[in-house]
Amino acid sequence: SLSIGIVGLPNVGKSTLFTALTRKGGLAANYPFATIDPNVGVVDVPDARLSKLAQIVHPSRIVPATVEFVDIAGLVKGANEGEGLGNQFLANIRNTDAICEVVRFFSDPDVVHVEGRVDPAEDADIIQTELILADLGTLERAIPKLEKEAKRDKENVARLAVAKRLQEWLNEGRRAADLEMSDKEREASHDLFLLTMKPILYVANVDEDKLGGPAPMVGDVEAIPVCAEVEAELAELDEQEAAEYLESLGLEKSGLETLAQAAYKLLGLQSYFTAGELEVKAWTVRIGAKAPEAAGVIHSDFERGFIKAEVASYEDYVALGGEVGCKTAGKLRMEGKDYVVADGDVMHFRFNV
Ligand code: GDP
Repeated sequence: SLSIGIVGLPNVGKSTLFTALTRKGGLAANYPFATIDPNVGVVDVPDARLSKLAQIVHPSRIVPATVEFVDIAGLVKGANEGEGLGNQFLANIRNTDAICEVVRFFSDPDVVHVEGRVDPAEDADIIQTELILADLGTLERAIPKLEKEAKRDKENVARLAVAKRLQEWLNEGRRAADLEMSDKEREASHDLFLLTMKPILYVANVDEDKLGGPAPMVGDVEAIPVCAEVEAELAELDEQEAAEYLESLGLEKSGLETLAQAAYKLLGLQSYFTAGELEVKAWTVRIGAKAPEAAGVIHSDFERGFIKAEVASYEDYVALGGEVGCKTAGKLRMEGKDYVVADGDVMHFRFNV
């Protein structure tokens, strides 16, 4: 599933948030460097359409889409110069699709700030610098290799050129993602696995009374407000109690749910559904993906042997009471391999094995 790495300075609330995420219930410690091992937590992407579909097909289970969060420790000021931890850190973060940076907004004087003050924009700058330095290190190692390979193999000439362009750009303190590149260059840059090429999402860990207020800003970027302490409490409650607690705070959903949805949006993703007696399930697919790619999300065999898809829009499916109703009304479409999947499509694939 979609994988997001959580980073941030020490003591900003990463562990607290992550514990809520995984519901493991461990104690987050009040001192820097508390988190050392990477961990993985999975969050459901809430989608009210799932229960609507379930009311029609009465499945044994409902399976929402998920976002996987990976707790990535070790990103502190100067992390880039450190040994050991740095490499472990890089290995963990490289495999994620996006980065979620937790930034401290809460004021609690009892919680030490590593830099001795609460300044979200400055904190984000520190992290950005470390990410850029890590990428420059990557390029410094990659370029000599590419220079050798470029002599033997034409393909690497383009790779070398883009690596050098990126090096220059990053040296000016900018993110790789902000460099204008041709599609070819972008593809050539893929194997470099640069961290600042990944989309970044800011999470503002705010005081409880700031929830529901105006969007907190990190520089000129809107952050997603979350109160890690509230999330930790929510994680301890059952569904009914959690709903009541959220209502008492004047909120519709938890910060983690908001975060999962925001990540979806940031990455240009959408859901399509399969609906059967066994399960109603949301599947994650790129916006713009065609039917075979969507089938491939379920199983690579579905993509390879794709024949066609029976498709009903979510609206039709609900309004007409399911597949039979759609068929009768002529709203069940047969789509081929060039069909571009729409958000909410209810799909059934036909394929060769
Ligand atoms: P990490 O180093 O980024 O993983 O930070 P932790 O999750 O360990 O949190 C550091 C300290 O800040 C702990 O004592 C937490 O209880 C506290 N903390 C975390 N989130 C909040 C919050 O939203 N409000 C307040 N007041 N304290 C928090």
